[in-house]
Amino acid sequence: MGSVAVSRRDDANDLQASIADQVTTIARKNLAPMALAIDEGTLYPSELLRRLGDVGAWGSHVPSNGAADLRCAIQSIAAIGEVCGATAFMAWCQTTLVWYAANSDNAALVGKFAGKFATGQILGGTGLSNPMKTLFGIEKFKLKGRRVEGGYVVRGALPWVSNLGPDHLFGTIFEREDEPGGIVMFLADCSDPATTLQPCKPFLAMDGTGTYGVQFRDAFVPDELILAGQAGPFVKKIRAGFILLQAGMALGLMKDCIDIMEEVGPPLGHVNRYLPQQPAQFRELYAEFEKEGMALAADPYNPDESYWRRVVALRLRMGDAAVAAAHAAMLHCGARGYLKSHRAQRRLREAYFVAIVTPATKQLRKMLAEF
Ligand SMILES: Cc1cc2nc3c(=O)[nH]c(=O)nc-3n(C[C@H](O)[C@H](O)[C@H](O)COP(=O)(O)OP(=O)(O)OC[C@H]3O[C@@H](n4cnc5c(N)ncnc54)[C@H](O)[C@@H]3O)c2cc1C
Repeated sequence: MGSVAVSRRDDANDLQASIADQVTTIARKNLAPMALAIDEGTLYPSELLRRLGDVGAWGSHVPSNGAADLRCAIQSIAAIGEVCGATAFMAWCQTTLVWYAANSDNAALVGKFAGKFATGQILGGTGLSNPMKTLFGIEKFKLKGRRVEGGYVVRGALPWVSNLGPDHLFGTIFEREDEPGGIVMFLADCSDPATTLQPCKPFLAMDGTGTYGVQFRDAFVPDELILAGQAGPFVKKIRAGFILLQAGMALGLMKDCIDIMEEVGPPLGHVNRYLPQQPAQFRELYAEFEKEGMALAADPYNPDESYWRRVVALRLRMGDAAVAAAHAAMLHCGARGYLKSHRAQRRLREAYFVAIVTPATKQLRKMLAEF
C-alpha cells in the first residue's frame, strides 16, 4: 500500500515537472519573439494561451480529494514571466479563473466550465480587485445585484479586467441590493449583450493583456453562473491561492533581472561591483522566496491565521523585490538598458505592476498592520 502511494506521488511529480518543462520550452521558443508586440499592445496572445493550456499549464492546481497543490502552476507562471511579464499576468488571470471554478460547489457550473477553463478551451480572468479592496475596508462594491427568477440581475462597472475578449468569462462579486450584507460571486460572461467591454486608455505596460473596463447594464446572471451564493466564506477558501499564484509573476521577473545583471558582468563588472545591489543578493532572495512560496503553495487551504499572515507577508516582499531587482538591472545595464530595444526597461515597467496589482503594496501593508 505504502509503495503504491509513493509511486502515485512520483507519477504526480513527474507530470508536474513535465508540464513546467513544456511551458518553459513554449515560453522561450514561441513567446519570446512575441514579447515586444505584447508589450506594445499590438498583440493579445490568445493562441499561445490556448497552447499553454494544451500542455497542462492551467490545470495542474485543480483540487483533488479536498487537497490542492499550486507549486507547478507557480513554476509555470514563473517560466512565462522570465520571458514576458504581461503574459505571466494573463497566466495568473487564467489559473485564478480555474481556481474559482474548481472550488465552486455549483455542480452545474463545475460540469460546464471547470474543465474548459483548465484546458484553455475557454479563456478568461478575474475581477476581484474591487471586491478584495472592499473586503479589506478600502473601497465599496462597484457591482450591485438582486434576485430574480432563476438568477440575479447585475448592474455597475469595473474599471479594469484583464485576459478578456468577446467570448471570455471572469469571476467577480456583486453586493445584493435586496439582502443587506449579502455578496455573491459569479462568472461574468463577456458574450452577454448586457455586458460591454470598454477599451482602456494605453497603459505604461501590460497593454497586450486584453484589459477592458466592463459595464453591466442589468445583465441577467443565471444560477448556472453562480460560483458562490455566499461569497464571504468562498473568498476565505480561495484567497491564499489567489495571492500565491501571483508569486510566479514576481519570481519570473526577478530571475530575468538577475540574468540581465549577469549578462552585463563581462563588459561592466569592473565598475558595476561598486553598485550596492548585486545579482548574488537577488539570487539569495529568490531562493528564499522560492522556498517559502513552494511551502505555502503545497497547502493552500490551510485555515490558520499564521499561515495567511505568511502569505500576505511573502506577497509584499515579492512586490518590493521585483521592483528592486528591475531597478538594479537598469543600473547595472547603464546606457544599453536605457535603449527602448533593451528588455531592462520593459522589466522595470512590468515590475511596478507586480507591486500595484491587487493586493497592491499599500493594501498588503494595511492588511499586515491590522493582523
Ligand atoms: C493594466 C491593468 C490590468 C488590471 N487588471 C485587473 C484585472 O484583471 N482584474 C481586476 O480586478 N483588477 C485589475 N486591475 C486593477 C488592479 O488590480 C489594481 O486594483 C489597480 O492597479 C489599483 O489598485 P490600488 O490598490 O493601487 O488602488 P488605487 O489606484 O489606489 O485606487 C483604485 C480606485 O481608484 C479609482 N481610479 C483611479 N484611477 C482611475 C482611472 N484612471 N479610471 C477609473 N478609476 C480610477 C477607481 O475607483 C479605483 O477602484 C488592473 C489594473 C491595471 C493597471
